[in-house]
Amino acid sequence: MSKRIIIAIDGHASTGKSTLARTLAQKLNYVYIDSGAMYRAVTLYAVKNNFDAEQIIDHLDEISISFDVSGQIFLNKENVSDEIRGMHISERVSEFAAIAPIRQKMIQIQQGYGKDKGVVMDGRDIGTAVFPQAELKLFMSASPEIRAQRRFEELKSSQNVSYEEVLQNILERDDKDSSRKTNPLRQAKDAIVIDNSNRSKENLLQYALELVEKTLN
Ligand code: C5P
Repeated sequence: MSKRIIIAIDGHASTGKSTLARTLAQKLNYVYIDSGAMYRAVTLYAVKNNFDAEQIIDHLDEISISFDVSGQIFLNKENVSDEIRGMHISERVSEFAAIAPIRQKMIQIQQGYGKDKGVVMDGRDIGTAVFPQAELKLFMSASPEIRAQRRFEELKSSQNVSYEEVLQNILERDDKDSSRKTNPLRQAKDAIVIDNSNRSKENLLQYALELVEKTLN
């Protein structure tokens, strides 16, 4: 069997990380893990139960998170893939993602997914904290306005949300995610930076596949 690696994709909110990670995993026949969805699922559990950031720490044992082969996420066996995308979760997730015991639990699960390699994982701390030894690390950026516009286009048919609200949320999450104490969003020293402001999905995938090829050879 050909060599399998770990691919870590980090970056700011809505830079196209998940789309790249998912399509890359499909092409390579790797497992795709959306680590942001895991923090969103924990946040959903807290919001549903009215737990604040302090209280949730005592309830982490009640939370089980898993993915099926198509990448759908399950919180205590319930498919929450759509529910976690709601603005009410986007507005709270960075607050819960800053809690150290939550991060510890998520990182442990995430590292388990990487033990056999052949995984593409996207998030904020994958190349720095989850898999500092990943063979290929990408760090994605794009202008806030372009990111907000893309996200708004995705959300507008299903949610009552304005472009301004989406932009505001993206900027707030970037700020909170970059300034938290535990594993803040940082570019790993050995990450390859990709500006995704003007690339098409196909162009980006092609470029990433070339980087994988180089890494494997
Ligand atoms: O990737 P997505 O934008 O869905 O992530 C939602 C939130 O989850 C981020 O804004 C961040 O607060 C948190 N997150 C994190 N570490 C990761 C992935 C996501 O803190 N590895």
